[in-house]
Amino acid sequence: MKKITIQGIGWDEKSSYQRGPAQAPPLIRQALHSGSMNQMSELGQSLEGPRIIDAGDFPISAYFDIERITAQHLAGGHKVLSLGGDHSMTYPIIRAYAAHYPELAILQIDAHSDLYDSFAGDEHSHACPFARIMENGLAARLVQVGIRTLNPHQAAQAERFGVEVHEMKSLDLSQPFRFSQPLYLTLDLDGLDPAYAPGVSHHEPGGLTSREVIRLIQELEADIVGADIVEYNPDRDHQGMTAFLAAKLLKEIAGRMLEE
Ligand code: MN
Ligand code: MN
Repeated sequence: MKKITIQGIGWDEKSSYQRGPAQAPPLIRQALHSGSMNQMSELGQSLEGPRIIDAGDFPISAYFDIERITAQHLAGGHKVLSLGGDHSMTYPIIRAYAAHYPELAILQIDAHSDLYDSFAGDEHSHACPFARIMENGLAARLVQVGIRTLNPHQAAQAERFGVEVHEMKSLDLSQPFRFSQPLYLTLDLDGLDPAYAPGVSHHEPGGLTSREVIRLIQELEADIVGADIVEYNPDRDHQGMTAFLAAKLLKEIAGRMLEE
């Protein structure tokens, strides 16, 4: 029975459009512990118990410190659930995972495929992490859901890396996603429609509903060994509604990670 370590990553230096996600982790915790909601997932797993360890928040000053911190929390066979932070953090996290999981699958929920070879002159931009992951062979499989911003460059990158892209325009959620490899779930909150998640830097209408994401998580046929919730930008939020959504999704994801 693996334990889950929660780590907050205070990092938004690789955001291309607006800063803000570095402030997110304590606000997601605050929503979770506000007394507004209980600590149960809908499927009946409790976040209160000895198997969940909250390691607290880590302000990041150097990008690859994220890899070092994640490696410390993975030691001892723990699963790690990270609160972001912008999406660039997933590359150093996956570098730490690769040392433990040579055959890792990644499921990415996102409006964007984040496959740019380079963005605004930065190969570590939050628009690039999955290009870095795939070209370094750190994932056996990458499945993307909710994408609605593909351009020719990113479509070519997806083709080059064999990424399975489920675009919003033709999304079919009638069957659960199945993974034979250990699964890392990376949830960019802009994958949801901004009507549900206004607190993100990049509003891209036409996205997933809260219920679609919850159901997708609940029906996943996979051993979830790690996850992150990224791109919450409190500067754009209304009444903390996106923080509460992040806390709700944290419970559903952690609940699934507790199953073994
Ligand atoms: Mn993203
Ligand atoms: Mn995105």
